[in-house]
Amino acid sequence: MREIAYQKCINPTCGATYSISEVLFNCHKCGSLLDVLYDWDRTPMPREMSFFETRWGTRESIVDFSGVWRFRELLPFARERDIVTIGEGRTNMQTADLLAREIGMRPGNLFLQYEGLNPSGSFKDNGMTAAFTLARMLGRKRVACASTGNTSASLAMFASLSATNGGQAKQGIVFIGTGKIAYGKLSQALDYGALTLQIEGDFDACLRRVREASDQLGLYLMNSVNPFRLEGQKAIMYRILEARDWHVPDWIIVPGGNLGNSSAFGKAYAELYELGLVDKIPRLAVIVAHGANTLYELHERQGLRWNKGYVDCEKIGTLYNRMDQSGYKPHTIASAIEISRPVNLPKCLRALDTMNGLVRQVSDDDILEHKAMVGRFGFGCEPASGASVAGLNMLLREKVISPDEDVVCILTGHELKDPDATVRYHTGIDMKAAEPPPAKPVTGKYANVPIRVADDIDAICKILDEHSIVEPDRGALPVGQST
Ligand SMILES: *Cc1c(COP(=O)(O)O)cnc(C)c1O
Ligand SMILES: [Zn+2]
Repeated sequence: MREIAYQKCINPTCGATYSISEVLFNCHKCGSLLDVLYDWDRTPMPREMSFFETRWGTRESIVDFSGVWRFRELLPFARERDIVTIGEGRTNMQTADLLAREIGMRPGNLFLQYEGLNPSGSFKDNGMTAAFTLARMLGRKRVACASTGNTSASLAMFASLSATNGGQAKQGIVFIGTGKIAYGKLSQALDYGALTLQIEGDFDACLRRVREASDQLGLYLMNSVNPFRLEGQKAIMYRILEARDWHVPDWIIVPGGNLGNSSAFGKAYAELYELGLVDKIPRLAVIVAHGANTLYELHERQGLRWNKGYVDCEKIGTLYNRMDQSGYKPHTIASAIEISRPVNLPKCLRALDTMNGLVRQVSDDDILEHKAMVGRFGFGCEPASGASVAGLNMLLREKVISPDEDVVCILTGHELKDPDATVRYHTGIDMKAAEPPPAKPVTGKYANVPIRVADDIDAICKILDEHSIVEPDRGALPVGQST
């Protein structure tokens, strides 16, 4: 009898199936992506989402404490004793009334899902816990990825902690290129002790080499082509429902890079709907950067669709050839979404189909401006996450989204991942440069420029008075008296 969980090729003309114990990241027959699928009839399933609330009272169980595994019935590939968890997914959905007012939405209708509150500071932990669990089920000891960013930070943290809770030690291996590196993220991989190889080449070269090395040495590959990562990332949708008392929002807005997250969201809702656990599916908006807009070009300009799985691959091939011939390189301040050949593109097209979705592209200036708004009116986020709020603002102005619809923006990464971008926005200065170049004019609406002042108390008080938000309060209070 077939296993309850299995892998299946997403190409309908192929449809090959594989056991979950087979380590492969593309279909051996046709090269397409693989899904993790379940025989739902043979696995116990709650009748209502509110069932999962029973786990709130049993937080001392590490699998109930996890914001991924307390929904384990919805990703039933894992053997419970093999679950690798570090307390991921204890995130926060904020009702963002101040931000709502700022961009002209009705207070009470805008929600920010702070995935930066995960242990390694990005949503990637939701997927890593699932991929590490499979690695443990298969007895793999060495795990690898190519990334200069949050994937490597998350992998490194899980690898170093996987020996706790009775687990086996794992070696985390990270391939980074010689291109630009956000220090907040690189510092994590180094600090958590991952074996870090700096390849003399760009990200594409790293990905190619890590795949070759994985094939030759049996390393377990953890880039988002790994379908088990997407299983874990479905939980972001479950937690949003949980935070909304199981009410489905009207819109989910997410930045798109390799398109793993958006793909996972579509799969989560397709399954919940099929299982009768929700009666409505929200619409999806995937926001890309102008300088890395493959999905926008294909979906919005060329009308590429999922089309029941019969994706017009020629359109994709033609675009990629054109990019190669012109020497195109993606470029955006939001390094986490600076990707021109998103590996999960077909799955994302399927998610856009499931969730009646659309794609928008936003400029780097818009990304920084909206990132600053999330800082000013919330907990802050990294540049890529700001794209989701920039996209919302654009869709409000287009009147595609109305101010009284319920909208959840996913904030994918923590504010402190990329502090350089933040400091540059507020000061115009690259403070890390040894010989600071002349400051660029500061143009951001939310820019908060530090004020230079002499080491002199009168000068300091004068400035504080000039910038006071209360009437000047002359005459100091007698010592010991307070207002
Ligand atoms: C990885 C990442 C993204 C892109 O997610 P995909 O699943 O690759 O589309 C966006 N934002 C941040 C902060 C990320 O780390
Ligand atoms: Zn196939």
